Amino acid sequence: MSDTGRISNEAVPGSEGDHITFCRICSVLCGFVATVRDGVVTDMRGDVANPYSRGHHCVKGPAILDVTYDSDRVLYPLKRTGAPGEFSRVSWDDALADIADSTKRHTATRAEVAGAISAPLLSLYDRIRTQTGSTGAAMLKARQCQGCRIELYGNELSAVRNADPHEVVRCENCGRILVRTAESGL
Ligand code: SF4
Ligand SMILES: [Zn+2]
Repeated sequence: MSDTGRISNEAVPGSEGDHITFCRICSVLCGFVATVRDGVVTDMRGDVANPYSRGHHCVKGPAILDVTYDSDRVLYPLKRTGAPGEFSRVSWDDALADIADSTKRHTATRAEVAGAISAPLLSLYDRIRTQTGSTGAAMLKARQCQGCRIELYGNELSAVRNADPHEVVRCENCGRILVRTAESGL
């Protein structure tokens, strides 16, 4: 504690005592005080001195301790070896080499596929991809955009349903290019 009664916010990460911190789970960023004992966080409580949240928070904030110390938490690289749920532990070097190899293969495949797409469409795809931070297109499956999981209905659904098969249609919610297939539910 400082002489003003406030807990020091200069505590070294992991050191014993109380640390001023905040919850990263959602955009509200509630303030918390975390207590560390023997290298383990033993308590998380709302920081009443935080000028923004003033000690208020939801149940998820303190529950992060259950996530942090859950016995099923993945703490090292795992490689899938068979059916879903079947994994074996691999070294970081092997995991990184595997990722580099697969990135190289995907980059080559993408270049091949992109070469067959018109420049304006590819440019649109890349722009949306940058905006979404993931993909620029998504499958429309059973009337649901698989990018944002929003179901299309009303005018939006009618517009997509009536669009020419070669027309580029986009999800009104996430902006992704919608890929129509026989499973689109149109
Ligand atoms: S405590 Fe709840 S409301 Fe506050 S940042 Fe965390 S998840 Fe969001
Ligand atoms: Zn969408």
